[in-house]
Amino acid sequence: MEHRQARPMFSPGKSVIAQYGYPYLTVYRPDLHQALADRVRALKADAIHLDSPVAGCVQDENAATLQLRDGRRIVGDALIGCDGVRSVVRNTLWGKTDPEFTGMVAWRGLIPMEQLPEHMRASVGSTDRAARARGQLSAAPRQVHELRGHHRRQDWDAPGAMAPGTVEECLADFAGWHEDVQAMIRCSPTLLKWALFARDPIPRWTQGRITLLGDAAHATLPFLAQGAVHSIEDGTVLARCLQDVAAGAIPGALIRYEKARIERTSAMVRGATANTALFHSPELATEASAEPYLQKEWSAAPIRDRYHWLYAYDANTVAV
Ligand SMILES: Cc1cc2nc3c(=O)[nH]c(=O)nc-3n(C[C@H](O)[C@H](O)[C@H](O)COP(=O)(O)OP(=O)(O)OC[C@H]3O[C@@H](n4cnc5c(N)ncnc54)[C@H](O)[C@@H]3O)c2cc1C
Repeated sequence: MEHRQARPMFSPGKSVIAQYGYPYLTVYRPDLHQALADRVRALKADAIHLDSPVAGCVQDENAATLQLRDGRRIVGDALIGCDGVRSVVRNTLWGKTDPEFTGMVAWRGLIPMEQLPEHMRASVGSTDRAARARGQLSAAPRQVHELRGHHRRQDWDAPGAMAPGTVEECLADFAGWHEDVQAMIRCSPTLLKWALFARDPIPRWTQGRITLLGDAAHATLPFLAQGAVHSIEDGTVLARCLQDVAAGAIPGALIRYEKARIERTSAMVRGATANTALFHSPELATEASAEPYLQKEWSAAPIRDRYHWLYAYDANTVAV
């Protein structure tokens, strides 16, 4: 099949800034981690303990206790389980369940911008200069292009959710796709495969002095690009609920946090699952059917209508 020149479906551009007061940003995850870790260590130098796997947790009226696999026990006023899609804390609170493999695998790679063909070196949403100027992100700007594509397969036998892949394997999965897609695959210095696992939203997060945050509370498919965003929103709202709260009032503060967040995060998880069909519509199979489909579902107006509720939210001011 002959393919026309690829063009962006839409650009978030300046209209997003006019409407929401901030651009649509993509941030390289290690830069974000570094910025957060630097800030935490500036407040308390020894706050972060790496290589400390958690085995479980218990609590009584006055304290929560984290049990590490090496036998250590750490006692505190509250415990926030933010240990991801296979959360031990969630399983301890609400019973052991496993996320389900969806039959989808995401290919991911980062390509230095200068290695791409000239016509593909466009910046769509990038780490913002303003955020850097305010000292919120300290790393140098990275000229990288993210490759992300999803492929259906029935099996996943790697021990974790992620495994390295090869250019040949990735090219085989995207055989027949547009030449720009093939070019991105060939330019990727490393390629990773991520098995996509799903969980349904749960109706409660908090018991006493222990609650959940991020994927531990609301693991999601990536089809709204909101999992990490909502984890950060959780953190902001939780910090507001805990501000100036006495130790005895912590269980009430955790319930206020859960109430402020659970409806929105559950809607986000369901929205991402529903987008699976939108992203993989059979109408995308040919150029003739794809053009009207993209106009109907993925041009600026339908995107604005569908996602306004996501972008209009402000974790700093929402009622808690
Ligand atoms: C392919 C793909 C694309 C995505 N794209 C986007 C996107 O564009 N935008 C977006 O916002 N989100 C995206 N996400 C979702 C995002 O990655 C997650 O929602 C986010 O990482 C959740 O953050 P978290 O801190 O809750 O969990 P995680 O990032 O999973 O962190 C959990 C941490 O807990 C640690 N841990 C786990 N178990 C234990 C234990 N027993 N003891 C001690 N530590 C433990 C882990 O090592 C890890 O460091 C994507 C996800 C995938 C798979």
